[in-house]
Amino acid sequence: MPIQPEYLHLAYTGPFPTLLYGRASRDPKKRGRSVASQIKVLREMCDRHGWPVVGVFDKDINRSASRHRTRERDDFEALIDAIESGKARIVAAFEASRYYRDIEIYIRIRNACARNGVLFCYNGAIYDLSKREDRRATAQDALQAEDEAEGIQVRNMRTHNELAATGAPVGRCPEGYLRRYDPETGELIDQIEHPQRGKNVREIFRRYDAGEGMLDIVRDFEKRGLVNQHGKPYGLYHVTHILQNRTYTGRRIRHGQDVGKGQWPALVDEPTFNRVQKRRLSRDKRKNRDTSAKYLATMIAECGKCHAANGPEAEPEVLHSLLNRGLMSYLCRACFGVTMEMRKFDAYVETGLLRWLASPAAAAAFRSGTEAEERTASARRLRDVLQQQLVEAREAVATVGPDGRPLLSVLALADLESRLIPQIERAQRDSEEAGVPPLLRGLVGADDVDERWEQMSIGQRRDVLRAVVNVRLNPARSRGVRAIEPGRIEMIYVGQPGFRG
Ligand SMILES: [Zn+2]
Repeated sequence: MPIQPEYLHLAYTGPFPTLLYGRASRDPKKRGRSVASQIKVLREMCDRHGWPVVGVFDKDINRSASRHRTRERDDFEALIDAIESGKARIVAAFEASRYYRDIEIYIRIRNACARNGVLFCYNGAIYDLSKREDRRATAQDALQAEDEAEGIQVRNMRTHNELAATGAPVGRCPEGYLRRYDPETGELIDQIEHPQRGKNVREIFRRYDAGEGMLDIVRDFEKRGLVNQHGKPYGLYHVTHILQNRTYTGRRIRHGQDVGKGQWPALVDEPTFNRVQKRRLSRDKRKNRDTSAKYLATMIAECGKCHAANGPEAEPEVLHSLLNRGLMSYLCRACFGVTMEMRKFDAYVETGLLRWLASPAAAAAFRSGTEAEERTASARRLRDVLQQQLVEAREAVATVGPDGRPLLSVLALADLESRLIPQIERAQRDSEEAGVPPLLRGLVGADDVDERWEQMSIGQRRDVLRAVVNVRLNPARSRGVRAIEPGRIEMIYVGQPGFRG
């Protein structure tokens, strides 16, 4: 089995002087990268992993022109000589299909590498040709390359649109599916249901169809630690998006039009999908009728003047919205004593709110309370235990046992890492977010809180506002003051004295 470049230093001791080999494409349509760009990518990989480049073999030759063949052979022979000289540890080539077109060339490079203990790197993986498994894998690649050379010309004729017309998937891979590509050519083979995330998509449709709310589904997924194709928890936005995507019925949609059956399996049947749309749309309509949901602080922000007059125990008077001299404004309809232009008020409140959400004070506010503290502590313990496991596993790979082999194989480590790292990240998130209401997860203490806020609907923003801050608008000290004077807008956050939930 090949090794990923980032694990090489764990399995082998350096240094890793490297020879780069670029080869001109034989494709009539020049589909492949130019030799210069192949070499550039290889150089970047070497820089990234600290492998010194000790030789570059990159003559750009059009192989069909026979007068260049001598030059080509010279360059290839020079590569073989360099391998034989024993100065290099790795031969890196851009891509197998460029490298192996001639089985004869492949066999010679392979033999030279095997004889001199040189590792062989292509398609982003490293093969050790002293191992039987790796020899077999690379030999298969070579044979496929031979077959493929025949087919290239035919395949190149098919453009993106022609592929789409056959019902093949195009564009980004939707959540819940998996695309399989030919490792040799990078071409799409098919789009199938993803073993885990396909189930998530099915479950979203099933539960929403059964009458559950999107937010309930999001919260439950989060509790179960389910993540989307980007490795992040499913957000409300994401679930909404899934529920309205007709792709999941197995139909192809181009520019909003149904253009026939796709070549991928349906994750939801048509009747269910249609019922879901009906429910979704009726919910949207209901939301639009609720005028209070149009603006950030309508019926949420309070009147400071009434608060002062009625005392802190009284039910607060909330602000209404109205058009005042052509500008949308907030106004207290109880006393008509406070008003402010909406744009100005909202900007001030949003700025303060986002700054607070990103601050440590926000995380601390939700961490108080015995239950939250216990959950934080246990999430931290779990995180530490998992991290320790990872450290020990990494050490085991670097430690050679009495039989001369590492205590843990690099492959076993890679597998362990792929399972442990998400668990550690989840435990880390739990330790930070224990006690934080689901609505606010990902917002509290987040670096990109502004961006997340941008993605929220006005209804969601109002929910956040209600949950974390009491906003009070006080009367201006004198008429005609344009700037927001200190104390004009009071904001009392969760955990601060006087906050009312
Ligand atoms: Zn008032």
